[in-house]
Amino acid sequence: MTAPGSATGSAAGAAADPDDPSSRASGGAVPRAAELFGRVLGGAPDAVFSAPGRVNLIGEHTDYNQGLVLPFAIDARAQVAVRARDDGRLRVVSGQQPGETVEVNLDGLEPGAVTGWAGYVAGAAWALAERGHRAAGADLALDSTVPVGAGLSSSAAVECSTALALATLAGDRLAPEELARVAQLDENRFVGVPCGLMDQMASSASRAGTVLFFDVGADRTEHIPFDPATAGLVTLLVDTRAHHSLADGQYARRRATCEAAAETLGVDSLSRIAPGELDAALAGLGDDETRRRVRHVVTENERVRAVVELLRTGAVRDIGPAMVASHASLRDDFEVSCAELDVAVDAALAAGAAGARMTGGGFGGSVIALVDRDRVDEVGAAVTGAFARAGFTAPVLRLVSPADGAGADG
Ligand code: ADP
Ligand code: MG
Repeated sequence: MTAPGSATGSAAGAAADPDDPSSRASGGAVPRAAELFGRVLGGAPDAVFSAPGRVNLIGEHTDYNQGLVLPFAIDARAQVAVRARDDGRLRVVSGQQPGETVEVNLDGLEPGAVTGWAGYVAGAAWALAERGHRAAGADLALDSTVPVGAGLSSSAAVECSTALALATLAGDRLAPEELARVAQLDENRFVGVPCGLMDQMASSASRAGTVLFFDVGADRTEHIPFDPATAGLVTLLVDTRAHHSLADGQYARRRATCEAAAETLGVDSLSRIAPGELDAALAGLGDDETRRRVRHVVTENERVRAVVELLRTGAVRDIGPAMVASHASLRDDFEVSCAELDVAVDAALAAGAAGARMTGGGFGGSVIALVDRDRVDEVGAAVTGAFARAGFTAPVLRLVSPADGAGADG
């Protein structure tokens, strides 16, 4: 078995393909923003910053319900090299968008003015100003090893790294939570994606060796040690390579259903419902679909609490059943899974994984599995074999471990 961050290799039958952008986080690839800066924009950057992608250990579709999440940053990162300009303009390039240089005038910048990938970058400048921070003109070169659309939040990595770069260049020091809120505002209002705060908090505030216990409603974070290795375990990530196009509309619909249910029940969010109050709450709801959505949110919060308590005692292996229950709830009650995610989870568990669940918004993306170190090749091969039999595109497998959040590089 190879080191954390690398692919599980040919034994698992799904080695990283260097020509495939979706496998770029494998094999210890490092972003090279400063090199890109020199080559395309010319000269040297003033500074280099980076922010990571993330996986969520447990607590899915709870963040926008003011609930509990438990993500960690992974060692795939978006890196940005930056140099100040004095003309109030942004000039932006990305290693993942070769041949394109986007120029933006910050004066009078409003949502809608920049679309496509550069909107995430321009939106960081807009969101900084919107929240009362300074953002001046700059040249920016972005290079990322976070695969796009794999459920690992490449978007939050871009938002957090560029917002941190622009703020620092302007002489501002943002607390991790404020950086996350700037990044979320960028995505919500400038890009127009109605995401919660989990991804940006994970990218901004994570610390190596820990998972980030974030109680969104209470606005409280705690770094909980997470060291599967001491229990002989690894966290295996299965990128299903599936991106089902209905995802965007479904996400907004789930949010709307949750908000409407909270209103019906007279609470400001579903996370206000304690487990002991669930049956009474369900009895107060008219249709079965809404009842299942509510049951997911309330039970998922409870599973996060249980996992945190287990991790506090170092009982890493014992979190497996909660992961499995989380997946079942997302599949059956919240209905955000898909065939590829279910096949990956089932195959991993059948091959002996201690736990496995979809991670991220769903309808594709990745599965996180907790696996005995000496069984990881077997589990990887089982998942890859199950995908082949089902006629799915081969998955990309990689080991991940908790990394640091956004910061200066070098
Ligand atoms: P994810 O689950 O990976 O966050 P999203 O759809 O939320 O998927 O965000 C992906 C989008 O973020 C891409 O389509 C692109 O617009 C932008 N993005 C991510 N990484 C980069 C990059 N390295 N360069 C340019 N744009 C990027
Ligand atoms: Mg995203």
